[in-house]
Amino acid sequence: MKFSPAVSQLAPSATIAAAAKAKELKQSGITVYDFTLGEPDFNTPDHICEAATKAMYAGKTHYTPAGGLPELLQAVCDAAKRDYNLAIEPKNVVISNGAKHSIHNVLTAMCHPGSEVLIPTPYWVSYSALVELAGGIPILVETDESAGFLPTVEQIEAKVTGRTQLIMLNSPSNPTGVVFPKELMQAIGELAVKHDFYVMSDEIYDKLIYPGWEATCMMTLSDEIAQRTIIVNGVSKAYAMTGWRIGWTIGDPALIKAINKLQSQQTSNPCSVSQYAAIAALTGPQECVTEMLAAFTKRRDYVLGRLRKIPGLSFADPGGAFYAFFNVSEYFDKPLQNGVTVSNVSDFCTELLGNAHVALVTGDAFGAPGYARLSFATDMNTLEAGLDRLEKFLAG
Ligand code: PMP
Ligand code: GLU
Repeated sequence: MKFSPAVSQLAPSATIAAAAKAKELKQSGITVYDFTLGEPDFNTPDHICEAATKAMYAGKTHYTPAGGLPELLQAVCDAAKRDYNLAIEPKNVVISNGAKHSIHNVLTAMCHPGSEVLIPTPYWVSYSALVELAGGIPILVETDESAGFLPTVEQIEAKVTGRTQLIMLNSPSNPTGVVFPKELMQAIGELAVKHDFYVMSDEIYDKLIYPGWEATCMMTLSDEIAQRTIIVNGVSKAYAMTGWRIGWTIGDPALIKAINKLQSQQTSNPCSVSQYAAIAALTGPQECVTEMLAAFTKRRDYVLGRLRKIPGLSFADPGGAFYAFFNVSEYFDKPLQNGVTVSNVSDFCTELLGNAHVALVTGDAFGAPGYARLSFATDMNTLEAGLDRLEKFLAG
């Protein structure tokens, strides 16, 4: 079969592929220490599940408006007011099937053939793939650990051309966990105003912020910046709701209308029952978020403490999200467990899985060769045992 050029060039999601590989090994009866997927191990809180069950039995099982239920649009507006004092209206919001779908829709609505989309590295795997799928060209803005994985405004400006349509920001970041300082976000916003491009701010980890760090909502920075900002967020990470598939986009009503149109042809609407669950998540008690964050904080401190003790590994401290992203290149071309040697991080991850049964995601997928990502959204016992095994693998 001859596939379309868009699909022929598309690589599968590396995070999902790594998780599938780990699962395959588990199914053969082997205990695998799986740190691949960025998904909370907690069950969705009871009050959210109860709202979904109630909706289901009340017959809320039909099509909804393409862009989401009015009550959910309002709940997103109320949460934006509560969390950031943002004054937005339902006409600024569209609900999609997860934040990944929201990003896809923003790019599909905004990219012209050859539109350039700036992406600071390291970036979440799907960003460049989704830009290409929408007919755009990803333009990478390289950052490194010595700069705390933060781009400078000068670096970004150097990549701006007349074809720049958008910059994709993600703070806290997947995969680094780095939190962009408010001043940097402000300066990037001002650059967007100056050069007439838009900012897509993926704020999916904004509730998962560790003590001493602060998330910034791009839309709060100035009226001019807000007009150029598109926020993507959702319930997956903060409320342990990855499988429910609810995300949203906040932006100019014209963009929201365009995405509604797209969605009406594409998917009809996001799952009705999941939308009722999302209303309960946003409007119900928020203690569940605080409780999960407390568990993530403990895990983060434990993982970072262990990684710091392993010679040759380096990383920038994650201020948010639930990933440790560390450089393993010191271990290239040296004997590891069972005499194995590797010279790149993808082989490192393959050998680590094969020999020590520890599953990480290769940094190559995030535009950061030499690095590996460990998701600590899993229980302490698995973290302890998995890190013991990583240490042993490295010790040779
Ligand atoms: N953005 C980032 C940075 C992510 O890590 C993820 C991972 N799931 C998403 C968006 C998509 O989230 P969702 O599950 O809502 O599609
Ligand atoms: N975003 C998560 C991750 O990076 C989930 C998998 C995915 O959607 O790619 O692991």
